[in-house]
Amino acid sequence: MEADVVIVGAGAAGIAAGVSLAEAGAKVIMLEKGDKFGGAGMFGAQGLFAVESAQQKAAGVEYTIKQAYQELANYTHYRSNLGLVKAILEESASTIDWLEKRGLKTELVNNTQEVHQGHPKVYHQYIDKFAGFDRLMQNFKSHGGRLLLKTAGTKLIQKDDQISGIQVHQEKQDFIIECSAVVVADGGFIGNQGLVKSYLTIDPTNLYSMGERKATGDGIKMLAELGADTRHMGVFENHAASVISPQNHKWHNETIFSLTNLPFLWVDGAGKRFVDESVCYDFALWGNATYTAGGYYYIILDQQFVDYISEHSLNWTDSFERTFASLSHKQVTHKVGPFSQIDADLEEAIQKEAGWRAETLDELADQIHVSRQNFAKTIQHYNSLVNQKEDTDFYKPNKYLQFSLAKGPFYAIKARSTSLGTIGGVETNAKLEALKQNKQPIKGAYVTGNDASGMYDTSYPTLEGISCAFAWNSGRLAAKAVIQFLDKFC
Ligand SMILES: Cc1cc2nc3c(=O)[nH]c(=O)nc-3n(C[C@H](O)[C@H](O)[C@H](O)COP(=O)(O)OP(=O)(O)OC[C@H]3O[C@@H](n4cnc5c(N)ncnc54)[C@H](O)[C@@H]3O)c2cc1C
Repeated sequence: MEADVVIVGAGAAGIAAGVSLAEAGAKVIMLEKGDKFGGAGMFGAQGLFAVESAQQKAAGVEYTIKQAYQELANYTHYRSNLGLVKAILEESASTIDWLEKRGLKTELVNNTQEVHQGHPKVYHQYIDKFAGFDRLMQNFKSHGGRLLLKTAGTKLIQKDDQISGIQVHQEKQDFIIECSAVVVADGGFIGNQGLVKSYLTIDPTNLYSMGERKATGDGIKMLAELGADTRHMGVFENHAASVISPQNHKWHNETIFSLTNLPFLWVDGAGKRFVDESVCYDFALWGNATYTAGGYYYIILDQQFVDYISEHSLNWTDSFERTFASLSHKQVTHKVGPFSQIDADLEEAIQKEAGWRAETLDELADQIHVSRQNFAKTIQHYNSLVNQKEDTDFYKPNKYLQFSLAKGPFYAIKARSTSLGTIGGVETNAKLEALKQNKQPIKGAYVTGNDASGMYDTSYPTLEGISCAFAWNSGRLAAKAVIQFLDKFC
């Protein structure tokens, strides 16, 4: 088999590159390890970031590439690849039109997180996502592109210091596809437990991954074998925190989910408070705070609160309800509860080993393995903050200092660090060429989406939809660079 270009991975980045290249007349083969295409870009993401899009202009949104650039440069402390960031931002508006023309429409919606409501609108939600991805793939095929499902890229081959082929594994056979360029787009390495463990700075049992399981770092490994710079691999897309049952990761209880999304008292593994809990209104920062706290924390409640919420509602915003409301054009209720079944819901969490109940604080401290002394001190001090209605420790808004913890039984619910994927991989430049440590490109090798480093610093920025935007835009930019490369060298 032979092609001009082989694309490794048929997710957001791979499809963007594949469609662009096939339309430009290149002979393209797209490899997909699974039996379906789309990756996390399809099964997970709901939309993508763009700036200065036609939809934003029509809606009167005043937000410029320059502003977005400055926001990202500041957020990443100038530790991102600013040339790459600029290129992605400049491409982002045209990508919205590009997707629409090929059948994946989007609509500009309200930002989906509570603290971003004052930020100009940037989130373009997919409309009819699955059919849209199908249309993109049809477009790829109608321009001569070939999709090989259940086929994984396993090894890159070079001749005279330039890509000359790729070894692939399909069902039970291995074979080589000769090609002049590859676009690596296989979604990072969140599906590889060994790699995740070596790059995590928390105990892996406290990481809950929602990311693409088939993304096992194959592409990064293949490029590393050719000398690619992978020194910034350890970046995780931390996103909120999740209450998980170790018995069954699919377990979900709506009341417990809501309680997780609210700024009650949280304590870390030392039994101490560690953050203004209203950080739950920004998913990236909430994810980062959880990760930094050691990968988990406990939400602490008492019976007085449980009795109250079983009959009353709170004038607070459920951070995930805000998201769902933005995406479905509903009004946010800014109301939580009442939870008439809360006793049974807590009991279920306890049965699922996601929660604990004890008559005394000391007993609860023992159950969750935190220091009794620290825990008692934390509760006592938190109660005094509630009484004085001012959080002089972490500056949580007074509104959320509503419940002291006085009446047993007491409850703890464990929330864990949650990741949507890895977002550090191979160093690249604004053309998405895979780079060696000396910044020289590996000729014919391009790296995109979650496989590429450079867009982020240590974490996921708070601009909504930026990681999917990076995937689509890096795929399109890589395709443009590949066309130039093929014209020049092949
Ligand atoms: C639940 C969830 C929700 C999300 N929501 C959003 C959102 O709303 N907005 C946003 O911006 N981002 C969101 N993200 C992140 C976003 O989905 C990713 O950043 C984006 O999909 C990355 O694109 P990618 O092309 O690099 O990887 P993917 O889209 O995951 O595609 C990678 C593909 O490569 C395939 N593959 C793996 N190994 C091989 C191999 N060796 N050979 C061939 N194929 C291989 C995989 O099977 C997969 O199909 C979300 C992620 C998740 C998990």
